[in-house]
Amino acid sequence: MQTMHSSSISRSPSMADNHQPHFLFITYPVQSHINPSLHLAKHLATTTGAAVTFSTSISAHRRMFSSTPNSDKDFNDGLITYLPFSDGLESHIRGTMDAKEYLSVFRTNSKRNVSILVNELFAGGRPVTCMVHTFLLNWVADIAGEYGIPSVLFWIQAATVFATYYHFFHGFESLIKAHSDEPSFSVCLPGLQQLQIRDLPSFLMATDSDSHYATILDSFRELFEILDREQERVKPRVLINTFQEWETDALASVSTEIETIPVGHLPKEYTNSGAGYLFKEDEKKYMEWLDTKEEESVVYISFGSLSVMKKEQIEEIVQGLKESKRPYLWVVRKDNREKELIEIEEEEGEDVNGMMVEWCSQVRVLAHKAVGCFVTHCGWNSTLESLACGVPMVCVPQWSDQGTNAKLVESLWGCGVRSEVDAGGVVKGEELVKCFELIMGNGEKGVEIRTKAKMWKDKAMDAGIEGGSSDLNLKAFVDKSCGRV
Ligand code: UDP
Repeated sequence: MQTMHSSSISRSPSMADNHQPHFLFITYPVQSHINPSLHLAKHLATTTGAAVTFSTSISAHRRMFSSTPNSDKDFNDGLITYLPFSDGLESHIRGTMDAKEYLSVFRTNSKRNVSILVNELFAGGRPVTCMVHTFLLNWVADIAGEYGIPSVLFWIQAATVFATYYHFFHGFESLIKAHSDEPSFSVCLPGLQQLQIRDLPSFLMATDSDSHYATILDSFRELFEILDREQERVKPRVLINTFQEWETDALASVSTEIETIPVGHLPKEYTNSGAGYLFKEDEKKYMEWLDTKEEESVVYISFGSLSVMKKEQIEEIVQGLKESKRPYLWVVRKDNREKELIEIEEEEGEDVNGMMVEWCSQVRVLAHKAVGCFVTHCGWNSTLESLACGVPMVCVPQWSDQGTNAKLVESLWGCGVRSEVDAGGVVKGEELVKCFELIMGNGEKGVEIRTKAKMWKDKAMDAGIEGGSSDLNLKAFVDKSCGRV
C-alpha cells in the first residue's frame, strides 16, 4: 500500500525550506475524527493554498473511497492528496481484542508506518512542514520531533471538553474521582460553568485500570503531559473544532497555558461532499422526501456512527413517533439492525409519515428547511452541525463527551433539552412526545428554544465566512506555521 520507497535518512527542517507549506493530517480511523479533519484539510487547502495530505488507516481509507476505482490506493483529488498508512489491523475482527491491546497494536504499527511515510514524502520532494493530528495519536509528536517539524493537535471535540480534561489533569482529579459515583455532585472548574458529575466526560470516571475507559483516559493523560512538556519551550497551540463565539469562556479558561485556536467552519461548505463516509449512503430518496414536508415539521433521529441503540430504545422511539404523529427521518445503521427492527421497518417503512435509512448525508439533512428537531446522542460533530444549522435538539447522551455537550446545548446555548431516561438509560416514548411538543410546539419555551437555535446559527455564519473569526484564525495559524509572522 505504501507506494513510495522508504529510506532511513532523517531530514532536518532546513530541507523543508524553499518549499510550499505542506500539512500532513494524521487522523484516527473513526467517522468522528475523519469528518472534521477532512473538512479542515479541505478548507485549509482551499483558503490558504497550502499543500495538504490526508492520511488515515488503510481500512478506513478503503471504506471512505469504496465507490471509486482503485479505492485502496493513494491519490490526489485535485485539492488534497490521500495517502493511507497501515495500522496492521486490516484483518482485525471487531471485538477480538480489548481496547488496551487494540491501541497498543495500532500505535506500534502506525507509528512505524507513518514515520516511513513522512520520510518518503521528504525523499520524494514533498517535504512535510507541519503535522496535524487528532487525539489517540500522541505518537505523532514523536515522529514530528524525529524529523524536526512541528506537530499540532486538532481537538475534534468542544473547547469545554478540552478545558475539562485540562483541569482534571491539573488539580481536579482527586476531587472528581472522590465523587465519581454521585451524578448530581457539582464541580466548579476554572472559567467553566458549573458542571455536575453526570455532565463530565465519562472517561474521567474510569475506576478499573484495565477497563476501556481507563485506556482512553491514559491516552488523554499522555496527551496533556506532552502539552505540558511543550510548554517548557514554547506555548503549545491547539486547533479546536468550535467557534470563538460559542465557547468564549472555555477557550479563555486555558488560554494562559495553551493557545487555543477555534477554527470551526460552516457545514454549508461541505454539503455536497459525500466523500469521507465509512458507511454506505442509503439509496432511498430521503432528500426528495424531505422536500414534500412542511417547514420545520420533521423529527430527525440519529445516534451517530458508533453508538448502538438497544432493542428497547428502538421500540420506545417507534412508540413515541407513532404517538406524536410527526414526520420523521430516522438513521439506524446496518450494524444496529435486528430482526425485530427490520420487521418494524417493513411495516412502517413505506409509511408516508416516516422514513428509516441506514446512513444519510447528515449535514444536508440538518440544513433542509423541513427539519425541525434533532434527536441526537450529542456526539460533538452532530451537536456542532445541528447548532450551525439552527436545528434545536433533544439530547440523549450515551458516553464520552456527550453528557458535556448535552449540558452545553441545554444550559449554555438554550437550544435544546436533555431528555429524561430510565435506570437503563432508555428514553421512553412518552418522554420523547413531551420533548417534541416542548421544542416544536407553540408554547413559550419552544419559541425561545427555536429563537436561540437561530441565534447560534447566525453566530456560526459570521465566524465561518471569509473574514470571520474562524477564517482569520486558520489563516493566522498557517502564517505562523510558515514563519510568515
Ligand atoms: N453522520 C452522517 N450520516 C448519518 C449519521 C452520522 O453523515 O447517517 C455523520 C455526522 O454528520 C457526524 C458523524 O457522522 O459528522 C458522527 O460524529 P459524531 O461526533 O456526532 O458522533 P460519533 O459517531 O462519534 O458517535
